[in-house]
Amino acid sequence: MSEYQDETKELQDQEEGGDSGETLTGKASDSHGDASATSRAGKSDNAEYEDVCFICRRPESKAGRMFRLPNHICVCDDCMHKTMETVSQFDYQGMLNNPDFQDQMKQFTGQKGFPNISFVNLADLQGDGGIPNKQKLKKKKPKEKQEPVLDIHNIPAPHKIKASLDEYVVGQEHAKKVISVAVYNHYKRVATNTMDEIEIEKSNMLMIGPTGCGKTYLVKTLAKLLDVPLAIADATSLTEAGYIGDDIESVVSKLLAAADNDVEKAERGIIFIDEIDKIAKKKETRSRDVSGESVQQGMLKLLEGAEVEVPVGANSKNAMVPLATVNTRNILFICGGAFPDLEDIIKERLTKSASIGFGGELKDKYDKDKNLLSKVTVEDIRNFGMIPEFIGRLPILFTLESLSKEMMIRILKEPKNAILKQYQKLLELDEVKLEFTDDALESIAEKAMKRDTGARALRSIIEEFMLDIMYEIPKDDNIGKVTITREYIEGSGGPLIEIRSNLAIEGPGV
Ligand code: ADP
Repeated sequence: MSEYQDETKELQDQEEGGDSGETLTGKASDSHGDASATSRAGKSDNAEYEDVCFICRRPESKAGRMFRLPNHICVCDDCMHKTMETVSQFDYQGMLNNPDFQDQMKQFTGQKGFPNISFVNLADLQGDGGIPNKQKLKKKKPKEKQEPVLDIHNIPAPHKIKASLDEYVVGQEHAKKVISVAVYNHYKRVATNTMDEIEIEKSNMLMIGPTGCGKTYLVKTLAKLLDVPLAIADATSLTEAGYIGDDIESVVSKLLAAADNDVEKAERGIIFIDEIDKIAKKKETRSRDVSGESVQQGMLKLLEGAEVEVPVGANSKNAMVPLATVNTRNILFICGGAFPDLEDIIKERLTKSASIGFGGELKDKYDKDKNLLSKVTVEDIRNFGMIPEFIGRLPILFTLESLSKEMMIRILKEPKNAILKQYQKLLELDEVKLEFTDDALESIAEKAMKRDTGARALRSIIEEFMLDIMYEIPKDDNIGKVTITREYIEGSGGPLIEIRSNLAIEGPGV
């Protein structure tokens, strides 16, 4: 073996961790003992000659490291890679599996193929011979494109937006009106792009209302009608960058995910941040307020409009995740929260101003005021613990009313996808008619009011007693109609069951 070859072998051994040592060069020259003997004899001659690549004809000094194949053939690194790439695109299977070829290779290299080079077995990838498609994902059927109810490029007038919302959301007239106008202005601004001359302010919103009164539902319905991506984030999990918790920018990456990673679509989307009252400034803290005031500070630039780099397909940035730049200028931010204790702050302000002078009013005048929350001002929100810069970037402030018994009953039966309609549809598939007496609906609403979790309680109450109905009814094919009564809901009787022959009987207290 020439001095040069020795060197090369050493180099390659080092590069490959020196473990196998079965490099092409090493093996090839070993198995050709006589060839190396010849070269040893003519050592001084060979030192003056450089190997040349068999394919591109470049000398070793230019082409770099050479692979030495049998019969004194040298191939440079580049050509070897190109060849491998080309070979792997064609059907080399026949060649590799050919016993003649394998025997030949064994003679030269001691192995049945190219040592240290593993070919991708195309058969594995193609799932031939019963091997499952491990490397493939089954394609989803393309979704049928539905026309949005409201077109944001040609945004309909606010009263039309509200009319569409009316079909789903019961009551909350004021909130629906405010949100319709705000959305109309926002998308008008986005569509006409009149940012430059007279800068129209962004219509970010802050909505306040007790839990379960339809805040999230309102925003969800709106996004669905407009067919824009929507991200719903929870402010409680947000912390200042660098601390445990979600970075503030993660809300934008959620939106990007909701828009199927389409940046342009995401830039027209809506971000709803729930529980915004949880990031109020903490009173009396000596440590850094990483999940309160700092989060508000961090959100300022997002709310106003900034270019943010967000990870695609992940919640946090790291070296493995690609980043996308999203401009938040046209993203509509809606913040919502229940703001507990805000009523006390409002009451305090109102009684303070009212009890001065001759027209002084009684202190407890506002104690029983149900609409106290609607009298909220920016000042109250600031006293609650939101910083002025933050409130300033949410110029539209409105409240939602807490649900009354009448509203609960309407929620049960009126919206397009009302819970009762859903159950009626389910039983209709079994050809059974489901009805509720007015008394029964009232009883459900009364029970829900006691739980104090808003309309959310309705579903859980209905699910409790519908379980038995849904279990028992399909058992008997003769049942044609079930009527739910107040007695059944209160546990003192059974539902009214009618057999298909119209014979009414009292149910056995299912
Ligand atoms: P929150 O105000 O706490 O965000 P949600 O909007 O999540 O409450 O309301 C919970 C559920 O109650 C919704 O999924 C919706 O079905 C129902 N709901 C609440 N308010 C209304 C309403 N005004 N009209 C119709 N359904 C409502």
